[in-house]
Amino acid sequence: MEIKINFKKVDTGKRRCRICGYIYDPKKGDPLRNISPGIYFEDLPDSWRCPVCKYQKWQFWIILEEPPIPEEKELLLDEN
Ligand SMILES: [Zn+2]
Repeated sequence: MEIKINFKKVDTGKRRCRICGYIYDPKKGDPLRNISPGIYFEDLPDSWRCPVCKYQKWQFWIILEEPPIPEEKELLLDEN
């Protein structure tokens, strides 16, 4: 029996600065600039800059990650 796992990558909401490697995580926000946790990168003000190298938002890349491997029971459901 062949089991197929969907490895489609998902957008984690994280954004990486292409200049210095700083990662903006919406779960943490940016305390240094009074950005509360839960604010998505896209919702940051245009005046927001990378806290490390001061580059602008468009210098950031979207980080895609593979979702965790599903539990065995979820795999069985996929077989239907
Ligand atoms: Zn940076």
